[in-house]
Amino acid sequence: MNTATCMACGAPLSRVVCDLGLSPISNAFIKPEDASKGEMFYPLKTCVCEACWLVQLESSPDSSAHFHEDYVYFSSFSSGWVEHARRYVEAMTARLSLGPQSRVMELASNDGYLLQFFARAGIPALGIEPTANTAAAARLKGVETREMFFGRDSAAALAADGWSVDLLLGNNVLAHVPDINDFVGGMPLVLKPEGVVTLEFPHLLNLLTQNQFDTIYHEHYTYLSLTALEPIFARAGLRVFDVETLPTHGGSLRVFVCHTASGHAATPAVGEMLAREKAEGLDNAERYDAFAAEVVQTKRALLQFLIEARAAGKTVAGYGAAAKGNTLLNYCGVRADMVDFVVDKNPTKQGRLLPGSRIPVLAPEEIATRRPDYLLILPWNIRDEIIEQMSGIHVWGGQFVVPIPTLDIIP
Ligand SMILES: [Zn+2]
Repeated sequence: MNTATCMACGAPLSRVVCDLGLSPISNAFIKPEDASKGEMFYPLKTCVCEACWLVQLESSPDSSAHFHEDYVYFSSFSSGWVEHARRYVEAMTARLSLGPQSRVMELASNDGYLLQFFARAGIPALGIEPTANTAAAARLKGVETREMFFGRDSAAALAADGWSVDLLLGNNVLAHVPDINDFVGGMPLVLKPEGVVTLEFPHLLNLLTQNQFDTIYHEHYTYLSLTALEPIFARAGLRVFDVETLPTHGGSLRVFVCHTASGHAATPAVGEMLAREKAEGLDNAERYDAFAAEVVQTKRALLQFLIEARAAGKTVAGYGAAAKGNTLLNYCGVRADMVDFVVDKNPTKQGRLLPGSRIPVLAPEEIATRRPDYLLILPWNIRDEIIEQMSGIHVWGGQFVVPIPTLDIIP
C-alpha cells in the first residue's frame, strides 16, 4: 500500500503518473577506476495528487546523494542561457522601472550569470546560492552572494538584515526544491508590498503533450503547472497576476507573482493558461493514464529499433551524455551491447561511463573515426543543431535517430 502524501497539500498520493523503475542519480558519471564498484539505484516514480494536481516524485534519495564532484553546473557555460538572462534583465528593468533605489534578489543565483547585468546597471542585487564554488564565481563578477538555502527561516534572517526587494526571481529552481511550501513561504518575507516575484520552470503541459518523460529524474521533485501552483502561492499569501510561455527547456512558463493584497491587476493570460491546462486534461486522472501508456510505447519502439539494427549487424552510437539521456537509457534497459558509446563535448564527461547503463562516453571526434550506422540523439531539444553539426555521418551512409516524442529515423 502506498503511504506517500502530497508534498504541497498533504493529501494521500494514490495515482502513479509513470514508473521508470530503479535509476541511479543522473549526473553520477562513473570514473574508470570505479568501474568495478557498485552503484546506488533509487525508485524513479512520479505520482499526481488528485486533490491539487501537483505531479511529484513519490520518494527521493537523501539529498546528500545528489552532491558529488561533477554535479556543479555553471550557468555561464551556456551562452544562450546568459543571453536569455540579459534580455530578461532588460525587460524587467523597463517593466518595473528599476533603478539605483530598487532592490533585486535571485534564488539559486548560480555563478551570477543573470545578476551581473543588474550589477552593471547599478541596480543593487543579492544572490542566494547554496553552492560555494558558483557563489565564489558570482562574487568575481561583482555580484553580492550569500551561501544559503532559501526557505522561511533564511528569508526571515534576510528580512531582519533589511532585505526587502522590488523584484525576487528564481529560474529553474522551483522543481529542484524538496519542500516547495517552505521555499514559496519564504518569498513574502523578503518582498516589498508592491514587489514582484518571477519564476521560470519547465511546463508540465509540454512534458505531457511532447512525451518528455526523460526530463523526470531524481533532482526534479516536482513537474509544474499553473493549476498546481496557484494553491501553493495562495497558502503563502501570494497570487499569480501574469504568465508568459518561453521556448527554454522544451517549453517553460514564467509566472509573475505578488502579495495577495497588492495592486497588480491580473492579466487575461492567467485565466487563458488555466483554461488551456484544463482543456489538456491536467486536472483529469485519465490524461495521466494516457501519458503512462505513451511512455511504455516509447520504450518498446526504441528497443525494437535497437534489436532490429543490431540483428542486422548495424552499429549505434549516442550523442549527448546529459541527464535526460540517462533517464531514457536506464528506463529502457539499454546497455553497451545496444549502444556502443555516447559522445559529449564536455571534456569532464569523456573517458567516464554513464551511470547505470555503463556506456562509455567519448569525444565527438570518435564519430568520424568509428563511423556508426546510426547516431541516437538523446537531447531532443537541440536535435536540429546536432543534425547540422554532425551532418558528416552522411558520408558513410549514417542516419540520425531521435527517440522522443516518437521514434524518428532521419536519413
Ligand atoms: Zn496535493
